[in-house]
Amino acid sequence: MLTSPHREGPHSLSPIITRTRTTFQGTHRFPHTAEGKPQPVGWTLISSLRKIIETDLKDSVRVHTKSAFQELIMEGRRAVGLKYSDEAGTTHSRLFGTVVLAAGGYANDHQDRSLLDRFTPELAKLPTTNGPFATGDVIKALLQQDLGAQTTLMDKVQIHPTGFLEVKQPNFHTKFLAPEALRGCGAILLCGGKRFANELGRRDYLTKEVFEHCTPLQGNPGFPIAAAMLLTQEAVDKYGASSMGFYKFKGLVEDVETLENAATKMGVDAAVLRQTLAEYNRSAEKGVDEFGKTVFPVRFPEDAHFYVAFTTPTLHYCMGGLAINEHAEVLREDDVPIPGLFGNNRLGGNSLLELLGFCWHGAWSLGGWPGATRRAAEIPEEGVLSALASGASVAATTMRGQTALMFAASARGAGGQECLQLLLDGRAEIEAKDRYGWTALLYGCRNDCQSQVKSLLDQRAQLKVSTHDGRTAIMLAALEGGSLA
Ligand SMILES: Cc1cc2nc3c(=O)[nH]c(=O)nc-3n(C[C@H](O)[C@H](O)[C@H](O)COP(=O)(O)OP(=O)(O)OC[C@H]3O[C@@H](n4cnc5c(N)ncnc54)[C@H](O)[C@@H]3O)c2cc1C
Repeated sequence: MLTSPHREGPHSLSPIITRTRTTFQGTHRFPHTAEGKPQPVGWTLISSLRKIIETDLKDSVRVHTKSAFQELIMEGRRAVGLKYSDEAGTTHSRLFGTVVLAAGGYANDHQDRSLLDRFTPELAKLPTTNGPFATGDVIKALLQQDLGAQTTLMDKVQIHPTGFLEVKQPNFHTKFLAPEALRGCGAILLCGGKRFANELGRRDYLTKEVFEHCTPLQGNPGFPIAAAMLLTQEAVDKYGASSMGFYKFKGLVEDVETLENAATKMGVDAAVLRQTLAEYNRSAEKGVDEFGKTVFPVRFPEDAHFYVAFTTPTLHYCMGGLAINEHAEVLREDDVPIPGLFGNNRLGGNSLLELLGFCWHGAWSLGGWPGATRRAAEIPEEGVLSALASGASVAATTMRGQTALMFAASARGAGGQECLQLLLDGRAEIEAKDRYGWTALLYGCRNDCQSQVKSLLDQRAQLKVSTHDGRTAIMLAALEGGSLA
């Protein structure tokens, strides 16, 4: 339900980004990351979208830069606008009718009332790859405004195992990312001249191994934990000379040329490093090493040209934010949407494609889809039909235990009723409950979806059910003055 109406979402980027090849990265067992052109993709996306806003949309979109959200303006329980301060500190109030929050995560939040201190105190002192804007201000403002907004997954802050350590200022809090692609192109990680893990393992695994095996940079307890990253010229060539040139320019990667210089840079005996590399090459011949690594992107001949960097685990993604429903509406603690308020701040979740999915979905819920996309949204049952035809299970659930039938029962957009009927025909379990005891009927009642509720009752859905906290169908139907009541 979330992705099927978004057929035009990712495709609509094709005039900006073209997929060129599928690449191998850290955490992969086979290549499966689409690489785009032109590079760098992020910058190309942002600057192209900015151009569209400044030209095609200049009469309909106004951008206020260097301005900060302060609080929502409410009319009763409905969000209708917001207050923000401009660069000079002047406060403005604007009424829009609807508000979409998209102010990102809080991995760089070290202010008073820090969300890191509150939800993940054990991680709060780690450096981060996120910019100075990632302070979660909007989440904090909403919690302070006491609207009863619900947060979710706030303690789920992902650590990236390899942020570059700048040797000249190791305690600088913001780090450049040493991306997975470096390890995917062959970089290995060493402590005391020895390997300690499968460099292509998952982020959580590798982070744990770094903390377990590595020591602070230069043995100084005041410095962060450091793993040395070793690359050969072959790995650097695979990765791309221009990005590597940037790292060298920034002093993050050093061209040390010889194995002896690499050992000196790491503060280890050259004989130890030589033995480590010989073992690595033997494992590569065998196709497996002691850590379970089975992909060896490059070998490490003794006479290769070497590069050295130092890396440390860094806070990278915040999974949490304000809780939203399937229409991207922000939910109160009692699971009822706050009318007029969209986006879970972070709207994008944890990756750029997910971000696109949520943006399109939020826009759809707002009724603001462009014409062609709206036509696609009018027939979402096609997506359900093709998913069922390809063997998708009608019993599959989200982490909260929600089934496709529950989403269809509460879909306010066109096609919800048809999807529901298809799922019922596909023998979806009508009385399935999610983790909080909600059934499809209760979802339909909450969103005032008359035709879906009627179909469910026709199919003898239980009316005398209630959520774990005691809300019945009639109570949910009466919320927000629902006509079903
Ligand atoms: C180094 C790095 C590399 C990454 N690489 C990848 C990758 O390869 N692939 C991928 O899919 N994802 C990647 N990501 C993740 C991706 O960038 C994020 O998931 C995505 O940007 C999140 O989007 P967002 O809209 O939630 O937040 P953001 O992109 O953080 O946008 C939030 C915006 O809100 C603004 N803001 C904050 N507070 C306020 C306020 N009070 N008032 C007004 N505005 C405010 C901020 O200035 C910012 O412009 C990477 C992230 C990092 C840090």
